[in-house]
Amino acid sequence: MIYSVIVDLSASEVDRIYDYKGEGYSVGTRVLVNFANRATEGFIVAQKEQSDYDPDKIKEIIRPLDDFVAISSEMLQLGEFMRKEYHLRWADVLRLFIPAEMRKNRVKALSKKQVCLATNDSLDVILSSLKPNATMQRDLVTFLYAEGATLAETINAEFGNGALRALIDKGIVATHEIVVRRTPYKDLKLKPAEVRELLPAQQHAVDTVLADRHGKYLLHGVTGSGKTEVYLTIMERIVAEGKNCIMLVPEISLTPAVLSQLRERFGDSVALLHSGLSAGERYDEWLRIKDGEARIAVGARSAVFAPMSNIGAIIIDEEHDSSYISDFNPRYNTQEVANFRAEQNGAFLVLGSATPSLGSYYAARHGKLKLIEMPERINKRPLPKVEIVDMTVETRSGNRGIFSRSLKQQLGDTLDKGNQAMLFLNRRGYSSFMMCTKCGYVAKCTDCDVSLTVHREDNMLKCHYCGKHYYILDKCPNCHESSFRQGKIGTQQIVQLLNEMYPDVKVLRMDADTTQTKEGHVKILDAFAKGEAQILVGTQMIAKGHDFPKVTLVGILDGDQSLHYSDYLSTERTFQLITQVAGRSGRDKDAGSVVLQTYTPTHYCLQLAARQDYFSFYKREINLREASAFPPFAEIIRILYTGEKEQDCIDQLTEQYAEITNLKTKYSLDFYYLDKMRCPLKRAEKKYRFQILIKLSKNNLTEIIPQIYDICDGKKRSSVQISVERNPQNLS
Ligand code: ADP
Ligand code: ZN
Repeated sequence: MIYSVIVDLSASEVDRIYDYKGEGYSVGTRVLVNFANRATEGFIVAQKEQSDYDPDKIKEIIRPLDDFVAISSEMLQLGEFMRKEYHLRWADVLRLFIPAEMRKNRVKALSKKQVCLATNDSLDVILSSLKPNATMQRDLVTFLYAEGATLAETINAEFGNGALRALIDKGIVATHEIVVRRTPYKDLKLKPAEVRELLPAQQHAVDTVLADRHGKYLLHGVTGSGKTEVYLTIMERIVAEGKNCIMLVPEISLTPAVLSQLRERFGDSVALLHSGLSAGERYDEWLRIKDGEARIAVGARSAVFAPMSNIGAIIIDEEHDSSYISDFNPRYNTQEVANFRAEQNGAFLVLGSATPSLGSYYAARHGKLKLIEMPERINKRPLPKVEIVDMTVETRSGNRGIFSRSLKQQLGDTLDKGNQAMLFLNRRGYSSFMMCTKCGYVAKCTDCDVSLTVHREDNMLKCHYCGKHYYILDKCPNCHESSFRQGKIGTQQIVQLLNEMYPDVKVLRMDADTTQTKEGHVKILDAFAKGEAQILVGTQMIAKGHDFPKVTLVGILDGDQSLHYSDYLSTERTFQLITQVAGRSGRDKDAGSVVLQTYTPTHYCLQLAARQDYFSFYKREINLREASAFPPFAEIIRILYTGEKEQDCIDQLTEQYAEITNLKTKYSLDFYYLDKMRCPLKRAEKKYRFQILIKLSKNNLTEIIPQIYDICDGKKRSSVQISVERNPQNLS
């Protein structure tokens, strides 16, 4: 038999099918093959009777790598779709479908020794064969008789190694190896699952979804409307019907609280796929899904590739979240992948959010998704009251600090009442840059076109792009003066200010710096939930999903921060972020309030976010998008050229730009825009960055996009990396 093999090397030169000989392999198996005189891992993606190559030159597959088929035929179809849709290399796609450590054999099944009785005799008979004073041995036998096979480590700890060995020598007890699954968060404390009666809005949502098992739904429910309960009920039904489910949540919302809820309801049927797991845990959870032991796969973006068949439902919570779009190789859109898998499996798809992406809401309003609205919080709890504070007024009245008078006042009240507050600022570090007041020098990263952020805790300057560290300046390297001005305040400095204002109040901080360790963010959220601190300061990490009943005040320190970028998505993102952060306040009995500080208090985005008026925002923004031809009314394509040799990038770009210009003449009506430029982030990690930006009508995409991909695949310089992105989330 001839097998078509993709070698597991991520390079365009080898991104094609190679033929190998062998017998008895299944398509989807990982194998070792001889490639360019090296033993190389690969994937069998097809089989055939004959090859077009000289049969004598076709090499034999060396051996299989696993004793199972790693990639199902269904996943191979998905891979084909992704390759075409996103212009990806086979190897990069297939790598997404298996735990990373399976490659190069870096993870194995964990086996442990188990002890059991080696005889079928009754307990009395066995005991009578032992000396009356051999108490340990007698206890051990009695234990095994009652409990059955037990791990050797447990037996050793309880009865000692001596007793065990003696019994093995006597032939009464035997040991054997068994495979044990490593379970993440094994020790979560679970409460018995609460049987909750669904509220009418939840019941309506569940009924609507279950009425059509092939539908696509958008569940638009305000923060605290009880969407989670809807997801759980739906999954319960699907699992009871014998089908499997995938539930996706943004990485940061994947907290033990969420996992507990799932385990309380579904026990061992839940498997978690998460970057924070150890290699062994990830491998074992993946196997449990593949073998059908786990019926529900929950995880961040990559869990959409759960090796599951017979899927009945795919749920994407917080569907607007930008983490669902991978913006590095391999680039893909999780919703589109989920959609493909749902159709493949005859499953339904539920997208949920309090602030749906404009694209999804537009699709729902135009019949492509069924819209389900949950407009009220659970038990008619009011949405928090949002006060917009005009910071220009604060400055004029002499308050130059980061906290407005109103925020200070309300923070004081909240602390006095014993409640909790969350302060949101999407800027980590101490201050955003360090500038010489004499000559204007600003400290920048040597590898990136990025100014360095001041970090006081370890007294360093850090590049937030590549992570490089530098000593803090005591003298300007340019004019040798030592007078510096610092940029905008970051989360570290907020905590310092709070500590000065309220010396007795415990403050926690959650940002990329405090959550680097495994389970770092879990520890912070846990401590805050337990009331170990009264204030939580954080970046957008604190915006998502969390349900803290004692939080009655949310302060948004810089409401303008993401608003005034030139990026067409910045208004939508700001609206989502503010609505989500505000939604953390007043989720329990005590009403909540929100202070939103801004220098542009009349901006419609902030006004409507303050009223949590999604629909008005949607109408306004979608009209703008239509008038200016932006997604969902057009498709944006960016071709990104990066490389250490600037001129090579420019030459490569210029050549391909000429070809795309030709394409434009052919499809002049479909090209709304075409231009080439340096990227706003001119250089990153030593590489120069250039781009071609294209805006296309939706009319002939299936014809034009493959031609653009072909142009990008044309004559290439090895010093330049080229990537194409469709509707990128980030245009920097
Ligand atoms: P959302 O995800 O829509 O923001 P959650 O699912 O977190 O909202 O629900 C908000 C709160 O309401 C949670 O504390 C949840 O336990 C509670 N809740 C949800 N459904 C019910 C119900 N049917 N009865 C009582 N409480 C509920
Ligand atoms: Zn850098």
